[in-house]
Amino acid sequence: MREKFLSFSLPFVGQEEIDEVVEALRSGWLTSGPRTRQFEQEFRQYTGSPGALALNSCTAGLHVALKVLNIGPGDEVITTPITFAASVNVIEHVGATPVLADVEPDTLNIDPVQVEKAITPATRAIIAVHYAGHPVELNAIRNIASQHRLHLIEDAAHAVGAEFHGEPIGCGDNFTAFSFYATKNLTTGEGGMLTGNQELLDRARIVSLHGMNREAWSRYAAGGKWAYDIVEPGFKYNMTDIQAALGLQQLRRFSWMQERRAQIVQQYNQAFQSAAFITPVTRDSVRNAHHLYVLRIREGELSIDRNQFIDEMTARNIGTSVHFIPIHMHSFYKNKYGYTPNSFPVAHGAFQQMLSLPLSPSMSDQDVCDVIEAVLDIRSKFARRRMAA
Ligand SMILES: *Cc1c(COP(=O)(O)O)cnc(C)c1O
Repeated sequence: MREKFLSFSLPFVGQEEIDEVVEALRSGWLTSGPRTRQFEQEFRQYTGSPGALALNSCTAGLHVALKVLNIGPGDEVITTPITFAASVNVIEHVGATPVLADVEPDTLNIDPVQVEKAITPATRAIIAVHYAGHPVELNAIRNIASQHRLHLIEDAAHAVGAEFHGEPIGCGDNFTAFSFYATKNLTTGEGGMLTGNQELLDRARIVSLHGMNREAWSRYAAGGKWAYDIVEPGFKYNMTDIQAALGLQQLRRFSWMQERRAQIVQQYNQAFQSAAFITPVTRDSVRNAHHLYVLRIREGELSIDRNQFIDEMTARNIGTSVHFIPIHMHSFYKNKYGYTPNSFPVAHGAFQQMLSLPLSPSMSDQDVCDVIEAVLDIRSKFARRRMAA
């Protein structure tokens, strides 16, 4: 057994990131400035987006997107129960009503059939989450959105580097929000990026910085003007140059980090082919960003449940997590909308089976072997043996 606890998700931060942050600190420009602009440009090139706006979180991106699209009281927004609370909290923040649609049993992404069923005359938008880095069925979701004249907002917190039919996530005209939180595939500690067409982003830029019609960067640069105007009461959601310094260097090593993730996923998939487990799928039509490795324990195969499985992993010094406690099981949403666990049976069933294994480019080969050994050891120790006659 390993001596040292293996953290569920360790960021990969190298000397280049450290040097760039130090340079940013020495440059005298700490808040949004030249590095933030450069990071926006390079991220935009990487995803092929029409435009990019760097923010202090993905949550901020989703919130700003809803604001710019004028979604508010009386409006309904359809999203998935298998997501982090932020995707749904922002709908509450603007005073709109979240409507959940159950997920597909294999990808655990929002199910287009369920989305269609959830549409009412009050529906204004769909927030589609590319869960674990596997893109949603974008063709089906886009068709539904255009047929019913709904806005599509993509929560791409897990999906930097993902592709759908060869098209990078974030390259479309619609709002797409990425996360650079500490555990995400590309990190700036805290941070996010909103992509979409330039007109939407120009409005988002204003909403994301006090509702001010001129940025501090152009005001304080040489020759900049002092004048500004508040056109609406906006938010304080801008990214700093210190964060952008980290992001610029993370982007330089991103393809290597993604390759390393894919390698680990392949090793896990091979090792966990077993009646006891359901391993994650990747459809032929997509490039999976492999943000999470979600292993599911098939019902009836082991004598322990998911919670006990996690305890056994912890006892073997392996950190794990669960993504996610479904939205409809959190007390705020349960109480407000009267959900029961079975309101979304596919999501609830998957939740009871799932755990996320360590997955990070900073893992050594030995770390990967340790995780595999622990999982297989637990499986053989708790396999349900057939009763002897
Ligand atoms: C992490 C995460 C977010 C929030 O990202 P922040 O950058 O922390 O705001 C939103 N949606 C999903 C699915 C996430 O996993």
